[in-house]
Amino acid sequence: MQNIRSLTIHNGAIPAEFVPAVGSAPSLQTTTPGFTVAQIGIHNGRISGVDLAAPGHLSTQPTPRLDASGCVILPGFIDIHVHGSAGHDVMDANPAALAALAHFFAQHGVTAFMPTTMTAPHRNTIQAVAAITTALAQPPATAGARMLGVHLEGPYISPKFPGAQPATYIRKPNLAEFSELLATGPIRMITLAPEEPGAEQLITEALQHNVKVVLGHTNATYEECEAAIAAGVSQATHTYNAMSGLHQRHPGTLGAVLSNDAIYAQLISDNFHVHPAAMKILARCKGISRTILITDAMRATGLADGNYDLGGQVVIVKDGQCRLPDGTLAGSTLTMERGLINFMAATGLSLAEAWPVSSRTAAQALGLDHEVGSITPNYRADLVVLDAQFAVVATIVAGVLVYLRDPERLTP
Ligand SMILES: [Zn+2]
Repeated sequence: MQNIRSLTIHNGAIPAEFVPAVGSAPSLQTTTPGFTVAQIGIHNGRISGVDLAAPGHLSTQPTPRLDASGCVILPGFIDIHVHGSAGHDVMDANPAALAALAHFFAQHGVTAFMPTTMTAPHRNTIQAVAAITTALAQPPATAGARMLGVHLEGPYISPKFPGAQPATYIRKPNLAEFSELLATGPIRMITLAPEEPGAEQLITEALQHNVKVVLGHTNATYEECEAAIAAGVSQATHTYNAMSGLHQRHPGTLGAVLSNDAIYAQLISDNFHVHPAAMKILARCKGISRTILITDAMRATGLADGNYDLGGQVVIVKDGQCRLPDGTLAGSTLTMERGLINFMAATGLSLAEAWPVSSRTAAQALGLDHEVGSITPNYRADLVVLDAQFAVVATIVAGVLVYLRDPERLTP
């Protein structure tokens, strides 16, 4: 929105854990349990200070100022599994489409995301990754969320659990293809089925290139998952969906994900992919420090119901649910703030308890938690301001106000 070097956010409530304990200054009341009113200083893209809101103190603060009265402030949302929105898809292989996605996500509080590819012919995936490389190299035409690198969803997944990934393009792990992808752009994550022949070598290769490996679209047994986790696989893609389920004598992929503390669990909390009770079970098994909300959003997100394309397939969107003609769920129209609301409703957790699933846990899973996912001096100023209904009021990416719903809140 505007290129500012400094910004002060005042009168917003932040999780109490981020407020420095200073003397005996009384903290101001908030209506959100576990939150304290504070002001946040931002300079040169970083958080420069966090203070208790002291009346009269404000006049000494630099302008511009953002009035966050009645709002909560959280670390900006991080979505590590998202395909599209607003009519665009990562597989369009178009830098302008990626910029439009970044802009759309910022309107929903997202400050960082991983553009996620579909299972597709190798040439198409190369083109999509090349477009991301191009987009990262050029200054964005519109301000938006930052891309954290590519998440490859497939193609080395199980034909038994394609979900909405086109089955014809599912392939066995292929090191030559993977090397070409690594050379084309910043691959940071790959979802694969660890039981497929050749997966072991591909996992080793990925980890050597600092690519996080994620279990998903997999028919792996519990034992195969345990071996994969021991080999360094650290996440599960959209837990419950497109993986072997939990049986009391065959715990399957789900049993391994729920019981092994080493693995992070992604969750699509749209109430369609996973029943709220199953979300609650996940939260109880994994805890907030291992649960990562994702949207898995596709092209139709932010648009009306109708027919849309997903990886060359028709997806019918009705009442916000996306399905292939055979009824298979095919991505979501979820946005991160809605996902957080659904997660809190399903688990009974408060915002003070639940918020890390929308940012900090993903940052930890990516090894970026020294940079983002916290309201702490010297961290990147990636923040989201939410109103009392948890609707997004403002989004700040690296200190830049990229979205502001209520212009009157800004004193220039
Ligand atoms: Zn996906």
